[in-house]
Amino acid sequence: MFEPDSTAASAGSPDRSDTMTEQLLADAERTILYTADRPGIVMERGEGMYLWDTEGKRYLDFIGGWAVTCLGHSPAAIREALARQSSTLVNASPAFYNKPMIELARLLTRLSGFDKAFFASSGAEANEGAIKLARKHGAVNLGGASEIVTATNGFHGRTLATMSATGKARWEPLFAPKVPGFKHVPFNDAASMRTAVDGRTCAVMLELVQGEGGVNEADADYVRSVRELCDESGAMLIFDEIQTGLGRTGNMFAFEHYGVRPDVLTLGKGIGGGFPLSAMLAARAFDLFEPGDQGGTYTGQPLAMAVGHAVVSEIANRKLHENAEAVGEYVKNGLSRIADAYGLSRIRGKGLLLAFDLHAPYGPDLVAECLRGGLLINSPSPTAIRLMPPLIVTKEQADDMLLLLSEALDRCSRRSFG
Ligand SMILES: *Cc1c(COP(=O)(O)O)cnc(C)c1O
Repeated sequence: MFEPDSTAASAGSPDRSDTMTEQLLADAERTILYTADRPGIVMERGEGMYLWDTEGKRYLDFIGGWAVTCLGHSPAAIREALARQSSTLVNASPAFYNKPMIELARLLTRLSGFDKAFFASSGAEANEGAIKLARKHGAVNLGGASEIVTATNGFHGRTLATMSATGKARWEPLFAPKVPGFKHVPFNDAASMRTAVDGRTCAVMLELVQGEGGVNEADADYVRSVRELCDESGAMLIFDEIQTGLGRTGNMFAFEHYGVRPDVLTLGKGIGGGFPLSAMLAARAFDLFEPGDQGGTYTGQPLAMAVGHAVVSEIANRKLHENAEAVGEYVKNGLSRIADAYGLSRIRGKGLLLAFDLHAPYGPDLVAECLRGGLLINSPSPTAIRLMPPLIVTKEQADDMLLLLSEALDRCSRRSFG
């Protein structure tokens, strides 16, 4: 039913004492499809390492839009790229080349050593592209092989195919029937991988550091053996670097830590610094699509391309991967110093993709306590905490984080969670 001007009607409701925030939260509950338990605040503004809610409260952001806002909030690079590009060309059509599209492809291929780029808007879409390319490779080069082997506890996105690729036990029963053709094997288990890859396999798809899975790093021997296995069988090797790419782990790409190059690399999250953008990069031998196989209304969208170019240039020019490495180590050392006092263990991760375990499953309570204290952190499982701040974070801000975290841990232990 169409209700004319329902906002005005509710704003004029008898209870005028509602604050603006309460009104917004009531409207959110009424109008936003429920998909997540969100705290009772509304974010309004961001600058650098900080977010502010509609009550004017400031939060030190160690979630970074989920490893996305690598240059911090509302950085000049993005503001200027959007202003410049939106006054030049907002959208031509995916049927035409445009200048920023070519500039971003040139930059990414130069930085990564891959030959070809395909652009999309979200990480899941980049992975869908990689899954389709893998099946195309199977059809063209491997006698119709169509299976893709992935790792348990991995994460590849929320479309049906990428959910099917994701080896998350809790997702197993959801949204049946799943897209067939995915095999999940235990992560870091070379023998299981060797058993799983056979004549039906067209690709192996892996994260080098499982982000959503709780920051689990691949072993170097494992990654090398998977590369060898793919070389022997002809299967395409895909690294999903949507979370680890573009400086996050202390190198421009996580595969550089391993000295192992995949055939296809997917990027997302940080590549747009908060603007929806993702990419699939491929070696020339995998330039296999024919017209009609793959595309999308927003592939190569000029605003996204201009932002991507500005963001990636800024990461490279300011060597933000080096800052990620340095401040990441600093945070790890700081966490080690408070670990005994609070029962923290398994401090892990690379660069600014870090995690640690709690001695009891009070992750969500700790997240809530931190939020109350003005710090944003993430709990990928009840016993784990993950930190993935913007790559611009300073050691002083890391100290602020450690202080706010300690205070929240104190409050939790007083309430006997900890
Ligand atoms: C976030 C993420 C995705 C999905 O990206 P979306 O932009 O949410 O679709 C895929 N793979 C990895 C490793 C991720 O961290």
